[in-house]
Amino acid sequence: MFCSSCKCEFEGWSGRCPNCKEPLVEDPVVFDEGDAHPVSYQALVDMVKANGGQLQIPLTTTAVGMERKWSFPYFGLGSAWAKRMQSSSKDVSIDLQAVDVGKDKKIGFPYWGFRFAWVNEMGGTIGGNATALTASKVRRERKWSFPYFGFGYAWTEEMQGTCGDQIEIDLVTTEIGKKIVRRFPYLGFGLSWIKEGVLTLKVSVA
Ligand SMILES: [Zn+2]
Repeated sequence: MFCSSCKCEFEGWSGRCPNCKEPLVEDPVVFDEGDAHPVSYQALVDMVKANGGQLQIPLTTTAVGMERKWSFPYFGLGSAWAKRMQSSSKDVSIDLQAVDVGKDKKIGFPYWGFRFAWVNEMGGTIGGNATALTASKVRRERKWSFPYFGFGYAWTEEMQGTCGDQIEIDLVTTEIGKKIVRRFPYLGFGLSWIKEGVLTLKVSVA
């Protein structure tokens, strides 16, 4: 299910969006183009070179994917991932979307379980130029202390990729979003996703 207002995705949810209370719809929400500032590839390369061969641009997650499942007898499982990340930079507009989400679950006897999800691959554009990133570091965390018994979190900490044949990029997560979901009488679960990151463009200056 999808929310047409915040563009988030919810697997296992029905009714209203947990974020903004809008009714969820079944069809995937098409993202708008955003505030695009296309630049030519050469202009982008020059921009990075002029900055000493390295240009850092902060990214913010603008849409999140979440999934949940309430299982017999009394526990809930859930996971979340960054679905879309964009830059607020005026110079270069960046628009990245998750194209592959890694998922895993761990179930133990008798009443605990975790679901994990993280972004494996992202694709999109930097100033209109196609780019692709692959996760190079994924973190998992389990919390056993009260009141977070059996809560598991996973998120992508670092991604690497290229934009064209001259620019190398990496994306480092700087802030994690976390949410706890509870529904009586089930045990709740924790969700986590990339909330903020810094994208670094690198060009070797000969
Ligand atoms: Zn929403």
